[in-house]
Amino acid sequence: MHIAIRKAVTYGLYPFLLAAVLGVIYQSIQMHWDYKTVYWLTTLFLLATLIASESLFPYSKAWSMTPANFLRDVKYIAMNAPTIGLTKAAFGYFLIWFSETHQGLFTHAPVLAATVVFLLVFEFFQYWFHRLSHQAQGPVGRFLWRAHAAHHLPDRVYVMMHAVFHPINALISTAIIQLPLVLLGIPPAAAMAATLLIDLQSLVSHFNVDIRAGWLNYLFIGTETHRFHHSAESREAGNFGNTLAIWDLVFGTHYYRPGRKPEKLGVADPQAYPGSGEVLAVLAFPFTRRPGHVIADRTGTGSGPGSRLADAGRSADAGERGRA
Ligand SMILES: [Zn+2]
Ligand SMILES: [Zn+2]
Repeated sequence: MHIAIRKAVTYGLYPFLLAAVLGVIYQSIQMHWDYKTVYWLTTLFLLATLIASESLFPYSKAWSMTPANFLRDVKYIAMNAPTIGLTKAAFGYFLIWFSETHQGLFTHAPVLAATVVFLLVFEFFQYWFHRLSHQAQGPVGRFLWRAHAAHHLPDRVYVMMHAVFHPINALISTAIIQLPLVLLGIPPAAAMAATLLIDLQSLVSHFNVDIRAGWLNYLFIGTETHRFHHSAESREAGNFGNTLAIWDLVFGTHYYRPGRKPEKLGVADPQAYPGSGEVLAVLAFPFTRRPGHVIADRTGTGSGPGSRLADAGRSADAGERGRA
């Protein structure tokens, strides 16, 4: 019986949640529900379902949330929620000014078309921002990685750790969502549909349950693919997309191995970094000269899906030596 339930969770939970989110989107457009309320209620439902499933059916007990980790996550949420809120508020003002003076390209487009176009555009910029945060050279690349590293310091991946980001990373990511929304003139229904899909995939991406999404891994970035992105083994840490798999497929960084999970999560050389619970040190990390792990671009060397530097060539102070 227990095995049957576990199997149902592994193969059924994600398709159920995806269908539920699509159903909510459809219904709320048909019934003209308040989209902001729909967004928050759906997010709370997803969080509750995923966290309950993680505690009942953890994939790896070593990756489960601990009280200390929960406290750390809350600190990051406390920092990032206002960062995201203020960024959205700034874009809200920009949207008002922009819509008074410009006609958006997609203002009168069908909801489905506007949603797909927005997701493709947002994901393209998000993919390159994320990939450059890992691979870009020079002082800008160094800064981006040191800001993004906050998300890779945890050595366990579960739903709540999704919030572990440097506020600079959170600010830029939010801007990457908001800017195309405003400039393309995406209608509210499509904005709601897209942000709910982004929300679903972001939450399941860090889900510590053995989920098998099958062919959907070629459509969306989710549990099985983003978990590999958190691998300490650089050869398997591709998958820079947030919601859609398309840009990883196009640019050759898609990494999917059904039934396998990474041996070790986090960064390869944690001693070169502050601990993820040392929030002040993590905040200061992009601005310090302390040696830090650097992943250089080795596109074309065949060293892995993300074309990241092979482990053997990395060292903690590579950044200060001009990057291997
Ligand atoms: Zn990353
Ligand atoms: Zn992640």
